[in-house]
Parts: sequence; structure tokens; C-alpha cells
Amino acid sequence: MKHKFIDMHCDTISELYRKKLEGKPYSLYENDLDIDIKRLGAGGAYIQCFAMFTYLMKVDSAYEHANALTDLYYEELEKNKEYIAPLLCRGDMEKNEKNGKISALLTLEEGECVEGSAEKLKHFYDRGARMMNITWNFKNSLGHPNLVDVNNGSVSPDTVNGLTEKGKEIVEYMVELGMVVDTSHSSDKSFYDVADIVKGPFVASHSNCRELCGHTRNLTDDMIRVLAEHGGVSGINYCPAFVREDRPEVITAQDLAAHVMHFIKVGGEDVVGIGTDYDGINSRRLQVRDPSYAPMLWDCLVGMGLSEDQADKVFYKNVKRVLTEVLK
Ligand SMILES: [Zn+2]
Repeated sequence: MKHKFIDMHCDTISELYRKKLEGKPYSLYENDLDIDIKRLGAGGAYIQCFAMFTYLMKVDSAYEHANALTDLYYEELEKNKEYIAPLLCRGDMEKNEKNGKISALLTLEEGECVEGSAEKLKHFYDRGARMMNITWNFKNSLGHPNLVDVNNGSVSPDTVNGLTEKGKEIVEYMVELGMVVDTSHSSDKSFYDVADIVKGPFVASHSNCRELCGHTRNLTDDMIRVLAEHGGVSGINYCPAFVREDRPEVITAQDLAAHVMHFIKVGGEDVVGIGTDYDGINSRRLQVRDPSYAPMLWDCLVGMGLSEDQADKVFYKNVKRVLTEVLK
């Protein structure tokens, strides 16, 4: 049986953009990627966040690149408007659902796309962006990431370098505008700097538990507790390297559920959601290999002892609560 879910992170738009640049056919409705509208519908999608991901070292202007991705995002939403609609204010969640549509939430994964400028942040807000990461894996004008060695995986977490002065101003402005601050990819120090500035909820849209899998993209137990104190949520990331250190052939629904259970043990049942990272990761090793398999994870959570309400909190209620509090 299908169960409503909110996925806080995917890189599908970047993959469609890549196909477009390569002159290949591309469609959000049906494709050979991890996410398309058909499989979102089959799995029970309520809200899908779409990240505008910019690889900072490969573009001349992060601002221009994020705008080009945003253009493509709206072209695809327009083509598929009978199935999916943008989520711009809190009322849109229920409005879109009532109209039988999946909600799409535009997010920015490379904070440098605003180039440290409040004006450019407002520009993306006006284009519908409602969530933004401080950094991806590169240091930028807003702050420091936990560096990740692309070939060797995790390196040590950065507990010294956090947000820049510009970064602090941008985070304050995000709060004022009603945008969700996303600390996934942030250094440990950047995470705590965000927690000092944002009084209410913020998120780690696609990060797991460092206690279970010692990757610096994951949160320590202390970070999980701080996130919980803020009413924030972290989304379970399906990336094999962030789920298990021992590199099994298949990442099962149970492996993902183990992270859910650890979040709940440390931070309570309100601190965890879903942030698949589909189309940014190798999904061939996943048992829950696309959104149409989402019910498998829900069944697994209930099988591990969560009540149906608790499983629904993980699937959508916790993130819905954050969006209701943060969005205008
Ligand atoms: Zn990411």
C-alpha cells in the first residue's frame, strides 16, 4: 500500500539538464533516471524537493548556472502541470494535494549561487526557492563544508571553520524571508553556527547518523540532539557510502531503517524524515531503488516496531511541520 512521503533532496533536475546539454531526450514525466513523475505517483509522493545543484569548480557563474537549472525546472513543471505544481507558500501543500497534484519544492544546493548577496538570495526566493544549503563540498563565500575526498570518501570533520560574516547575514535573511536553512554538507562548525542564528527549525535535508556510519556527511549524536531541540529534521540519505561503512553489495530497506531508528533513539520521533539523494547517487545498489519502492521502507519501519503514526512522521509529517513553521 502507498504511503504519503516528502523527499527533501534529489538531483533529478541536474541530470535532466545534463541530458539536455548532451542533446538527448529528457522528460520529468518518464525517464531512465531514479525519479520521474510516474514513479513518484506510484510510490505515494506528497512533496518532492528538487535541488538546483551546481558543481562550483566547473562553472563560471554559480548564479547563472542555478538560474539555468531553475528555467529547466519550470519548463518541466509547466509541461506536467496536470500532475505536479510548485509549493511556494504553506497553503500550497494542501491546495496541491486537493487538486490531485504532487507538490514540487525548489531548493538550492550550492549556497554560492547567491554570491554572498542578499539581492541575489531574494532573486531566487522570488523564483520559488524555499530551501538552501550553505555549501556543497567546497568552501564558498558563505561558509565551510565538511570536506569530502571524492576518491577516498570521508576525511575528518571540520570543527573549527564555520560560517563567514556574509554567511551569517545570508542565514539571517533566509529566516526573515521564510526559507529553510539546510546544513547538509556543512562543516560541523557551520552546523553549530546555523543553530546559534536560527531559533526555530532548520534541516539537514540529506544526512544520516555518524554513529552508525562514520562519514563526515552524517550527523553526530550531539548534532542530532541540537537539531531536535530546534524542531528540525534530518532526511535519511540512501547513498551507500553514508549508510554502511562495510560496502555491502546491496543497501536494504533495513539498512536505511537502522538510521531512522538511531535518529529516533537519540533525538526523538520528530527529528527524522527522508532525503533520498536520488539521481545524485548510485541507486543500482539500493533495494529501495526509486520512489515507487518507498512503501517497502514504510513496511520495514512498522516491522521494526514503529507505530503507523511514527512511520508517517518519518515519511511526511515531520517535514510538513517544518515547512508549515518556516514558509509564509
Ligand atoms: Zn548533496
